[in-house]
Amino acid sequence: MILNYLKYMNRAYNLKHNNHKYKKLELTCNLCNSSDHELITSKDYEDYKSFKVLCRECGLIYSNPVPTLEGLELYYEQKSERYSGEIFIPKLRRIYRSALRAIYRYNRIKHYLKKGINVLDSSACIGEFVYLLEQKGSHAIGVEHNNYLIQYARNELKINIERHFLDNIKMPEETFDIITAYHILNLCLNPLEVLKKYWSFLKTDGILNLEVPNIDARHIAPYHRFRFKYFYNFNLHTIKMLARRAGFEVVNTIIIPKSMHINMILKKGEPYQDEVSDAQNYVMVRNSIIGYKSLNFLVSPLPYLKAMDNIKKYMVLNKAVKEYSSGKEILDDCFAKIPEFK
Ligand SMILES: [Zn+2]
Repeated sequence: MILNYLKYMNRAYNLKHNNHKYKKLELTCNLCNSSDHELITSKDYEDYKSFKVLCRECGLIYSNPVPTLEGLELYYEQKSERYSGEIFIPKLRRIYRSALRAIYRYNRIKHYLKKGINVLDSSACIGEFVYLLEQKGSHAIGVEHNNYLIQYARNELKINIERHFLDNIKMPEETFDIITAYHILNLCLNPLEVLKKYWSFLKTDGILNLEVPNIDARHIAPYHRFRFKYFYNFNLHTIKMLARRAGFEVVNTIIIPKSMHINMILKKGEPYQDEVSDAQNYVMVRNSIIGYKSLNFLVSPLPYLKAMDNIKKYMVLNKAVKEYSSGKEILDDCFAKIPEFK
C-alpha cells in the first residue's frame, strides 16, 4: 500500500517535470505573508523532495513548494485509478463509522439547524451528513472531489452532491445559513482564500462549522503528521487567526478529546487587519515538534493503546453491521432517533 502511495505521488511529479503546466509553486506564509521560515522536515522521493516549513513569524506549518492545483488534481485522479471500471461500494463498516460521524456533526450544530435552511457541506465524502440533513428537513448540498464517492452518494443516497476540486469551490454568494468544513482546509493550497469564499457563500447571519487536525495532537505518530497531501498543519492560534483574517468571528471552540481536533463555530464579521505575527506561538510549535520525535511516540504507551482501541472498534463495528445488507439501511437506522427540524 505504501509502495502504491509513493508510486502515485511520483507519477504526479514526473508529469510535472515533463510539462510546464505542472510546475511547482513557491509560497509565502498563508497567515502572515512572511517568507521567513525554517525547514522542519523533508521527505525524499525518486525525483523530488517534499519540504515542510515553519513560519518564524506566526508558527504556521506549511508545505513549500506545493504542486499547482492542476498537478494536485492529477495526483488525486491517479490515486483513484485503482477503482477504475468498478462500481465503488464502500464497506458497511465504513458507512457505519460515517453515520456515527454524521451524528457527531449534527450534535455540534443542532441548535442552528431549522427546517428549510440552506446548508453546504464542503467535505461531503459519501454524503452521509447531507443525507441526514435532507431527511430532517433542511436543504443540503454536498461538495466532494472524488468521483467515486460522488457516484455512490448520487446512486445510493439520491442526494444533491456536486464536484468541485478543493480550492476551486464555487457557489453563489450569500446563499447558505450554515457551511460545514471538516478536515478539508489542510488539504487546500490557499486556505485563507477558501475561508474567504465560505464567508462570501454565507448569508449575513450564517455560521461556519470548521474542524481541522491539530499539530499539538499526540495520538498521531510524528511520521504521519506531515503527509504529502496535508499542505498545512494548524494549531489553535494559527487556525483562529486565519479565520479572523478571512472575516470570521469565533463563536466557540472545542478541542475534541483524544484526537485533539480543533472544532470551531464561526460567524461572519469584519476581516482582522492588524498584525498576526506571534513569535511566542512560533516557539511553542517549534518546541512541540522538536520534543515529539518518532522514538518518543514509540516508547510511549500511545501506539499500543491505539492499536488495542482499533481492534476493539473493528470488532464493535463488525458486530454492529451484521444485521444490514446496504449502507442506506445503516444510515436510516442510525438517524431514526434524530427528530425532524422545527
Ligand atoms: Zn506566518
